[in-house]
Amino acid sequence: MTDTVALSGLTVDTRHFIGGQRVSSSETFDNFSPIDGALLAKISKGGQREADLAVAAARKAFPEWSKLGPKGRGELLHRLAALVEENLEQLANLETLDNGSLLRSHIRGVMPRVALNLRFFADWAINDLHHESWETRGHTNNISWDPSGVAVLVTPWNAPLMLATWKIGPALAAGDTVILKPAEWTPLSASFFADLTVKAGIPAGVFNVVQGFGAEVGNALVSHPDIARISFTGSVPTAKKIAHAAAENLTPVSFELGGKSPTIVLEDADLDLAAELAVEQYDNAGQVCLSGTRLLVHESVADEFSKKFQERAAKLQQGDPRDPDTDIGPQIHPVHFERIKGFVDRAKNDGIKVVMGGEPNSELGGLFFRPTLIVNPPVGAEIVTSEIFGPVLTMQTFSTDEQLIEMANGTEFGLAAVIVSGNREHAKRIASEVVAGTIWINCFFVRDLKAPFGGSKKSGIGREGGNWSFDFYADVKNTVISPNGWKE
Ligand code: NAD
Repeated sequence: MTDTVALSGLTVDTRHFIGGQRVSSSETFDNFSPIDGALLAKISKGGQREADLAVAAARKAFPEWSKLGPKGRGELLHRLAALVEENLEQLANLETLDNGSLLRSHIRGVMPRVALNLRFFADWAINDLHHESWETRGHTNNISWDPSGVAVLVTPWNAPLMLATWKIGPALAAGDTVILKPAEWTPLSASFFADLTVKAGIPAGVFNVVQGFGAEVGNALVSHPDIARISFTGSVPTAKKIAHAAAENLTPVSFELGGKSPTIVLEDADLDLAAELAVEQYDNAGQVCLSGTRLLVHESVADEFSKKFQERAAKLQQGDPRDPDTDIGPQIHPVHFERIKGFVDRAKNDGIKVVMGGEPNSELGGLFFRPTLIVNPPVGAEIVTSEIFGPVLTMQTFSTDEQLIEMANGTEFGLAAVIVSGNREHAKRIASEVVAGTIWINCFFVRDLKAPFGGSKKSGIGREGGNWSFDFYADVKNTVISPNGWKE
């Protein structure tokens, strides 16, 4: 294979993008499509050398980029967003080929959000960051958000470019320069995006992409003494390793991690709505950090809810994610597929009841796992405490609100929760007691980029979105100005 591959109507470079140049490594790794296992590309595999080159390039570009100011940077970010929009269909196809998520979701929601992430944070830096000032005994406190340096962004495979731009947007808008390390299972969209940054006129070294494995180039980047920020989205075990590496240099971290969120159906819920929202938890073949995979249902409505849920879930079409009628595509990778299967097999071996799915879809073969419902697992069972990150839901019943709260908060995670209720006061009371960064009442996945996003407990450190993103990527400064000593 050569340095570029033609995929989905795009030419995608398989090398790193460092200091505005394509850089290759002596070794490559294979990149396969989860749809049919086809070899898509051989990607340059970075290590310490590439991490050092990228940090040097990003540091070199920092003074000019940081001085450009929010307006200058915003103009370039809007140009970049327009280029994403121009290439939206091809980018959506490329991402589907690489990570197996539904093409229709990429076209309708995910890729438009990539552009929106860039536009939103560009505008926020210009118009909405509060450059507050106030008086203390005649002295003025002036608050500013100063660029902080090189931000290393480490991202997962489940929504590759969308999650990357959720970090790239605010980091670049804040005046930081960026090194992106995409997940090794989904390297392609980041590489193509790098070419768009060139077309948008973003100066060399401001945005860099380094490809490779977490334990190698990922570790080299997050351990680097010359970086200012680490923003990571991924799993708890990886976050612990990054936290160790960051501790050596006291590099500030932002962590968006896993979840095991509850979908709570109260006794006063509209059960059709509850079934609809519960079935949505299979979105992206269950590979969504926010998924409310633990259905906690009041015992008085459990039978009726379960019937409605299974009727609705039986209509889900599983198949090729490029087919507009498909609802559930493949899992990302054979390793992840086996991990999901392992959880379900162990639950079955422990005598836990599987009422739907519970096995690979043998008609489709490959990486397709049937949407699964497991009922009444015992409290503390692995299947209800560990993040599976697949199309596997559990259902448990409760009889009192006290019992519900104990169950809802009974994992190490605290990312999100869905509450379905017909009574506002009841829903709000439960919401106030559930530990989670985001709670949706009678809805799911409605997101406002101004709002704080992140997890409690082991689901993360910090919040992103609106001002919270800038609080992280920028150095927040207070300049205190005395009324005395002025000569003019
Ligand atoms: P992962 O932790 O295995 O990998 C994420 C990234 O970290 C990859 O780019 C990987 O190469 C890199 N990495 C691995 N080891 C590293 C190291 N030692 N140093 C530096 N980088 C390293 O996660 P994943 O399997 O790609 O993604 C799934 C996880 O991500 C799930 O737990 C999911 O809940 C979580 N997630 C969270 C959010 C959120 O916003 N909270 C969003 C999406 C996914």
